[in-house]
Amino acid sequence: MALTNEQKLIAHNRDFPKPGMKEITDKVFVVTGLGGNNALLVEGESSGVLVDALSNETEGLEAAAWLRSTGRQPVKTVIFTHSHPDHTSGAAAIAPEANLVIARKPSAPVYGHSSALNGIGAVRGMRQWGDGLSREEIINIGTNPFYEIRQKAAPLNPSYVYNEEELAMTVDGVSFVLYAADGETDDQTFVWFPERKILACGDNYYHTFPNTSPIRGGQYRNVSRWIDSLDLILRLEPEHLVPGHTHALAGKEEIQRVVTDYRDGVRHIFTETLEGMNRGLTPDQLVETVALPDHLRECPQLQEFYGKVSWMVRGIFSGYLGWFDGNPTHLETLPCRERALRTLDLSGGAAAVLAAAKTAAQKSSQNDAQWAAELCDILMEADQLVEEAKSTKAAALRLLARATINSCARHYYFCAAKDLEEA
Ligand SMILES: [Zn+2]
Repeated sequence: MALTNEQKLIAHNRDFPKPGMKEITDKVFVVTGLGGNNALLVEGESSGVLVDALSNETEGLEAAAWLRSTGRQPVKTVIFTHSHPDHTSGAAAIAPEANLVIARKPSAPVYGHSSALNGIGAVRGMRQWGDGLSREEIINIGTNPFYEIRQKAAPLNPSYVYNEEELAMTVDGVSFVLYAADGETDDQTFVWFPERKILACGDNYYHTFPNTSPIRGGQYRNVSRWIDSLDLILRLEPEHLVPGHTHALAGKEEIQRVVTDYRDGVRHIFTETLEGMNRGLTPDQLVETVALPDHLRECPQLQEFYGKVSWMVRGIFSGYLGWFDGNPTHLETLPCRERALRTLDLSGGAAAVLAAAKTAAQKSSQNDAQWAAELCDILMEADQLVEEAKSTKAAALRLLARATINSCARHYYFCAAKDLEEA
């Protein structure tokens, strides 16, 4: 029997490496933190070169203990694939003796006054990662088994920020090439060790559909450049591919196969979206039509555990054409409360709408649960039967949480349901 989406998300737990250190070739180790993040250690003549530094001080100290107990050289060079805290926040704990910390200058500046949104950014981030949910509710976070948001950080400030498209360096006998590889972030870096044919690719490849438009919000992630970076992986022909999350891959043919399907899937969504936009389709119409091609629909590394096709489509639309969907009805809208009151009037009143919402929330299909939530929104916007609408919407959100394959959506639904019940 086919697995449900929830069962598929549970099965995705197999795609995360166990904490510890694994030698993938002579003097090269993948170090996986307690939360499932990967770092890559390459030993030089008298010191270690580390790519990424796990996600907090506790993980960093644990990794440092592994390094000591196995007689590894001290890490003196740290390279960040990007600046996200889950890749940088263990640095001072793993590499207290570091004398070179390399990062990349972002290709696009952070929008001015972004800090004015720190509050809502935190709220949405907490919901996406499932802050306060039970382990049964979380299952995993798409890229990792879990993310300990509140753990103490031990970061290191970069001492060398590069700005080239490609930069070759040799440190303590270890040669590597840094490539600008915009994708999940505008400062994404690929670290290529040409003699060993090992590539650390940060977060531009992991074993789940990419999160090009995270629901926590943020600046547009450049999907076109992201696809270019997947082409770069294929051109380099690595023998080992070490992503920031999920298992490292080994074997040139295997990596070519996995990344080609990944690139083709993402590129298909991107080009289909642009083509549909050019025909005048709105985001709502696009998400009904744009999908992975048949031969990639079951591809394991394109399952929507972290990113989602529909979110990528919407992100591309707003990134290229902005907020206006093209329908003149939407140039302006009725005030929310007026539209809700008019809709209730047309639908037989608040009691009838609540009854319909409750009926829909007792059915098992995703569309029924979605309909129930939408009806409850009308009641809440009209300020009618609000308490019952809230509890019915919370029930509908819990159904949606269990129906989706996507961890971020699951957490967001569960957290929002809790907030409705506690409000
Ligand atoms: Zn990451």
